[in-house]
Amino acid sequence: MTNATKKTKRRHDDPDAVLGVTRTRAAQRLGARLRRPLFAWWDVHARALPWRDARTSPWGVLVCEIMSQQTQMSRVVPYWNAWMERWPDAAALADAPRADVLAAWGRLGYPRRALRLQECARVVAAECRDELPRDYDALVALPGVGDYTASAVLSFAYGERIAVIDTNIRRVLSRAFLGEESLGGATGAVERALANAVLPRDAAASATWNQAVMELGALVCTAKQPACADCPLRGGCLFLAAGLPHLGERRTRPRQRFAGTDRQVRGIIMQALRDLPEDAHGVLRHEDASRLWKDTAQLDRCIASLDDDGLVEIVSGHDVRLPA
Ligand code: SF4
Repeated sequence: MTNATKKTKRRHDDPDAVLGVTRTRAAQRLGARLRRPLFAWWDVHARALPWRDARTSPWGVLVCEIMSQQTQMSRVVPYWNAWMERWPDAAALADAPRADVLAAWGRLGYPRRALRLQECARVVAAECRDELPRDYDALVALPGVGDYTASAVLSFAYGERIAVIDTNIRRVLSRAFLGEESLGGATGAVERALANAVLPRDAAASATWNQAVMELGALVCTAKQPACADCPLRGGCLFLAAGLPHLGERRTRPRQRFAGTDRQVRGIIMQALRDLPEDAHGVLRHEDASRLWKDTAQLDRCIASLDDDGLVEIVSGHDVRLPA
């Protein structure tokens, strides 16, 4: 999505125009009713994740959001702790060797995210005086920062009133306020309008709302087995009242198998590079690499694609190392 498209989408989020005035007011009334039980639940059940500490910088929040895009929050914790200890701000990360950045990304997956994060750090350090912008358009202009990440930084780090829309939030809002299963796929205008309609007017309350709804989607209103008996929204949830119609149905195709894919092979190569013994001097020799995967044509293809992506370097014609 281009930056211009992202801005245009934001401008078209007016709930009255998309949902109609009657539906918007009904959703707002229900939202106001559900806020108190939701916040009470959040006070008791919110996980003590390290980036929720009030002392976490906006940069720390951004790092957490990028790390958790394809990875469960609980798995991110040790990586985030080590990362922030080593590179506490954008300037520190900007200067780090790429090989160290990729090694520290470990098993978080999709390592291109690590390089995009470093590109972002370089822009923030050089052009923003090492401070993340407090402005939506400036944030989405940064490398690797999309609508979700920009909104999350503005809401969670800066306490701005802005709707945050991720998979968990979409599912909870669609179920509770529309009485419909969230079918996945690209976020639609109705979902964005609904998220804006039910967002509390007060900025501090809106940030708590975003975090609480997201946490509820992660812990209670899960995709396949919502624990409605334990849910603070059960008194007003339209999906529960309708008998959970089409629970678990998805618009998107089921995930591809992982075993045997190029993604798996690329992960094995990256892991081997991170696990090299000291005396290998950071170089995975060709004969050692060829023992990693039986299908040598696939192995070579994956090494070449990692090289194309800037995630490895081919040295001496056929050995491999993390980029300098
Ligand atoms: S009552 Fe059930 S379906 Fe409704 S929001 Fe809660 S967990 Fe989800």
